[in-house]
Amino acid sequence: MSKKVPLYIDGEFVQSQSSQWIDVTNPATQEVIAQAPCATQTEMAQAVASAQQAFLTWKEVAVSERARVMMRYQALLKEHHDEIAEILASETGKTFEDAKGDVWRGIEVVEHAANIPSLLMGETVENVARGIDTYSFTQPLGVCAGITPFNFPAMIPLWMFPLAIACGNTFILKPSEQDPLTPTRLVELFEQAGAPKGVLQVIHGGKEQVDFLLDEPAVKAISFVGSVAVGQYIYRRGTENMKRVQAFAGAKNHCVIMPDANKSQVISNLVGASVGAAGQRCMAISVAVFVGSAREWIPEIAAELAKVKPGGWDDPDAAYGPLISPQAKQRVENFITQGVNEGAELLVDGRNCDVAGYPHGNWVGPTMFGKVTTDMEIYKNEIFGPVLCATEVDSLDEALAMVNANPYGNGTSIFTASGAAARKYQHNVEVGQVGINIPIPVPLPFFSFTGWKGSFFGDLHAYGKQGVRFYSETKTITARWFESDIADVNGPNMTINLK
Ligand code: NAD
Repeated sequence: MSKKVPLYIDGEFVQSQSSQWIDVTNPATQEVIAQAPCATQTEMAQAVASAQQAFLTWKEVAVSERARVMMRYQALLKEHHDEIAEILASETGKTFEDAKGDVWRGIEVVEHAANIPSLLMGETVENVARGIDTYSFTQPLGVCAGITPFNFPAMIPLWMFPLAIACGNTFILKPSEQDPLTPTRLVELFEQAGAPKGVLQVIHGGKEQVDFLLDEPAVKAISFVGSVAVGQYIYRRGTENMKRVQAFAGAKNHCVIMPDANKSQVISNLVGASVGAAGQRCMAISVAVFVGSAREWIPEIAAELAKVKPGGWDDPDAAYGPLISPQAKQRVENFITQGVNEGAELLVDGRNCDVAGYPHGNWVGPTMFGKVTTDMEIYKNEIFGPVLCATEVDSLDEALAMVNANPYGNGTSIFTASGAAARKYQHNVEVGQVGINIPIPVPLPFFSFTGWKGSFFGDLHAYGKQGVRFYSETKTITARWFESDIADVNGPNMTINLK
């Protein structure tokens, strides 16, 4: 019998009374390894009530004590790093190295959250008028909620709840139903780190459970990461219900390759950034834009890409694992067929990919198209698989125009030896995260994760200073004290003479 994933309500791991359960499968084998419940209305109401109650005391806990919970949590996550990565690999199919990276990037956000006393500092100006001072405090919002995708089951929950809770909020997490075991382990360790009862709650499920959070008046802020269609829906419904919402969505990330770029760096970086993690990264490079004579490198890149091998999580030679589900595999293969039908040149075909020992895995081999144009469906859609589309232009201006016309704006990069070309690109490109000779420019948590355009709906981004602002309110105080009111508190001989 497969394991039943518990809910985490009011400081207890509890088995749901739900009649609806979702199978969690190992994508390399199709083995059902667990079942996640669709939390009932009663269970979700209990989670909200507990989070509301816990907020009343947690917001009063000294900020340095809140920071210490994060320090202990960071140490526990590091201690259990490999064990969490193994759980993660079992439900996502990621290779062990990739799974460890997923956990590590989450740990970095917890480290950032441990700096909460300085992150919360407000501003002060003395004598805004004679004898009047103005200063601001950063106060928590209340109950916040997070809805996370399948592709980073450690990193993305850790983008959310540690910072929200360090700010003094309480938090309800609704992880992806496709890989809920990793978040469950993260929560067990959070409890072990000394997080008080009720500060964090976990409900499982899908649309119905998300809708509950979107409509529940006690939930003040929603963080979402996932696909564009769901992100737009969540942003609209959440803001209509007067909530603060940040929704990080899908992407189509371009890498511009100038003819003066370091060729061997381009080849190795492009291969890793396009098919690594089976292309299931919101910052994966899915379009390579070859400028001028750089197009001559396309055959060599295709040859390198063809050598990349997917495989099982513990195979040290495997570059990446299977796709998350048979449906995801089918979707990617359909796009490959569509690309052929719409006239792109299939340079490397990843369909019908077999991996020894895993006959039932959701494998798609590395795939590369040449002669892709911007009117093709394979260019317009986020394929979310190990598929690289090569396009060709004659100038940096043309490359910029292509990237800026694309509706997404998560990440982009340029490979060049020219500072002037890089400067022009970084300044003019309408994308939120730019790499210069860096293929996947995900910022460390002391910056913020700043997708633009169709890749983000909201105002304040994840982690960094913006993350703190998202999970808090600013209170601005203007104060005046009258000197004539100073009392003789220390007895007759200690009177302060202010005259
Ligand atoms: P998804 O949108 O299918 O699911 C994300 C979450 O939304 C899950 O928790 C799911 O249960 C919930 N959900 C699904 N359908 C829903 C509906 N109709 N109504 C309400 N909630 C619903 O996304 P996914 O497939 O899990 O993740 C992959 C997507 O996430 C890709 O598009 C990827 O680009 C994106 N992503 C973006 C970022 C970023 O920072 N921009 C990071 C990681 C992933």
